[in-house]
Amino acid sequence: SKRRILVCGGGNGAHCLSTLAASQKKSEVHVLTLFQDEAERWTKLLEDSDVKLTVTDLDGSQREIFAKPNLVTKDSEIAMSGVQIIFLVVPAFAHEQYFKAIEPHLQQNTLIVGLPGQAGFEFQCRSILGDKANTCTIASLESLPWACRILEFGKHAQILGAKDSLGISYIKGKSCTLPFPIVESIQDIIGTKPKIEEIQNYIAINLMAKSMVHPPILYGKWRDWDEKPLQEEPLFYQGIDERQADLLSQVSDELIATGKRLEQVKEGIDMSQVMHIYDWYKTYYKDQITDKSCLMKAMKTNSAYDGLVHPMIKTEDGYVPNFNYRYTTEDIPFGLVVMKGIAEIAGLDTPVMDEIILWAQKKLDKEYIPNHACKTNRLTEGKTIFRMERVISPINCIEHPKLLLS
Ligand code: NAD
Repeated sequence: SKRRILVCGGGNGAHCLSTLAASQKKSEVHVLTLFQDEAERWTKLLEDSDVKLTVTDLDGSQREIFAKPNLVTKDSEIAMSGVQIIFLVVPAFAHEQYFKAIEPHLQQNTLIVGLPGQAGFEFQCRSILGDKANTCTIASLESLPWACRILEFGKHAQILGAKDSLGISYIKGKSCTLPFPIVESIQDIIGTKPKIEEIQNYIAINLMAKSMVHPPILYGKWRDWDEKPLQEEPLFYQGIDERQADLLSQVSDELIATGKRLEQVKEGIDMSQVMHIYDWYKTYYKDQITDKSCLMKAMKTNSAYDGLVHPMIKTEDGYVPNFNYRYTTEDIPFGLVVMKGIAEIAGLDTPVMDEIILWAQKKLDKEYIPNHACKTNRLTEGKTIFRMERVISPINCIEHPKLLLS
């Protein structure tokens, strides 16, 4: 029998996932995009053609897939009819809107997948779905399975090389019985690469979210910037210096320490899968990195990062940094702030993350940590999605997903 999938979003990842899934005979694919007139535009483009998906494999070979979703709509009721698996494939700031749109139409025993989840996904999803969260399963992947982009909206997208493996965690609702296996079904939809690996605790996924990477690199690069425009766009990863690598490494240390602390606070949870960012690079990009001797060199020599530059704005005098790019707009509120919130619950100070959040929030004109905080920084009450959720689920939410079943 066919399985019906809903892809939420209309961007790079949504194009790729919906086309991949639609190319499989056993899948029926709906797309829900709430953004502007995307649904209308895309529907029109699909009238007389398929979407072309160009897949570039790691060995450089290319293949093309032609397929199209059964339906692209802005109407959440139509989109949700008969759906068994829902993928959210949008930047984290758009998650809330989709959770609210799907909630009234959510059937029991649905699988909701954050692709990627980003830090805080489960907290936000559970708080918006309320009791319904207990009747479904919420899964979260660490990242998008591939680097990908739209070449022509609604018509042509490209997958530029899959990662080797990708972590997933899930929270199965108390009264949810899925009629299909979770990991195998998602693997089946995205293809053989990357290999999806189960991570036992969703807090571990939150602490490993890759949104931790960008802010320390930005902070290290721009905290002492003299405001003079640059003549070239600096390389983001491959231009990293020792100071930046050090900041990143220290943030990673704080996250590992948070995991360790949680193991002490809550008996029986295993956070050993929270790994250091340096180890993560060595594992996940093992074929792309040529010098693995330290974190800085690993990043500088990672061919997956060839040519990627800092987000910059072009002015008449040259380039200036764009501090309102998703490396901050997304990776601070749905990244470091959530991680800091978990550390706070665990009772751990995180001076390096705090320093970075304090710098970034000024650029974003937000206040996640009070600007005039003294020695121990605490998150500002009511300012973050994490705070909202904390009201209903402090430490008891931090549980082995399998324990939630009993
Ligand atoms: P994208 O930038 O293509 O997403 C744009 C889409 O998001 C739009 O088409 C629209 O559907 C929606 N959107 C944008 N602004 C919105 C708004 N104000 N309100 C509501 N919806 C809005 O995203 P993507 O490249 O598909 O990435 C999805 C996620 O995966 C992001 O979190 C990204 O950081 C992450 N990621 C992307 C890549 C990649 O190669 N593209 C790689 C790794 C991780």
